[in-house]
Amino acid sequence: MSTRGSPFAQPRVSLTLACTNQKGGVGKTTTVVNLGTSLARLGDRVLVVDLDPQGNATSGFGIDRDAATGSIYDALVDGRTLDDLDVPSPIEGLRIIPAAIELAGADVELATVESRERRLAHALPDIRDRFDWILIDCPPSLGLLTVNGLAASDDVIVPIQCEYYALEGLGQLLRNVGLVQANLNPALDIRGIILTMYDARTKLADQVVSEVRAYFGPKVYETVVPRTVRLSEAPSFGQPIIVFDSTSRGAKAYRDLAQEVSRGATGRAG
Ligand code: ADP
Ligand code: MG
Repeated sequence: MSTRGSPFAQPRVSLTLACTNQKGGVGKTTTVVNLGTSLARLGDRVLVVDLDPQGNATSGFGIDRDAATGSIYDALVDGRTLDDLDVPSPIEGLRIIPAAIELAGADVELATVESRERRLAHALPDIRDRFDWILIDCPPSLGLLTVNGLAASDDVIVPIQCEYYALEGLGQLLRNVGLVQANLNPALDIRGIILTMYDARTKLADQVVSEVRAYFGPKVYETVVPRTVRLSEAPSFGQPIIVFDSTSRGAKAYRDLAQEVSRGATGRAG
């Protein structure tokens, strides 16, 4: 991580982070795509795992979900090794395990499978050593796919939209992280809260920022991701914002966030 190249470099630690919030449209995928890209630009090896049947992280890198020869579904349901499933992205140092539409049925298909909550956790060691960061893009639900993401992760990052009802459902999210912690993954913790879609023109946005900071304290990253049109346009070009418009405010925010996330990791490793 940031110790790379230093003569005092510690052994590098691979960190798996699930980006989760059961609300849709809060910036999970945007965060995974752009945080991942920014971490790769810092020189780290990044794997994005697209756990959302919608496949927005996959298409956000310009990868055609239907053309991919494998997806995370094959690992979860058919037990294929992850080592065979990752494909390159246009970003140097960043690879992705795509989603597939079949993932939409995985909840049902896994229902009767042994250790259904730990399928991803059991598969991940096959590939972990190849990466410094594994970022898991979770679907907007608290179903079995998300539980697999949480059970496989070291920590959770949670995007919160600076808008009405931002805090709604957060209690449920925290309870669920607690449940996974108690039953599946004792070391799981909330690593960081990311404030997204901040619109400086509204008073409400500042209220949400204050409330979230008051509640979560130092867990909230300093970086606040602004609401910008460029960020919303980038996915339709299949490009991370850092490629689409590298000098935009959104690109800067995600670069700053990557620095913060990276610093946290060094602290923990040291
Ligand atoms: P989720 O994965 O939580 O459902 P997304 O990351 O897909 O959320 O974001 C939802 C929509 O909002 C997408 O169309 C995305 O392009 C857009 N979006 C995300 N973050 C921002 C932002 N900071 N400013 C403007 N639009 C954004
Ligand atoms: Mg998404």
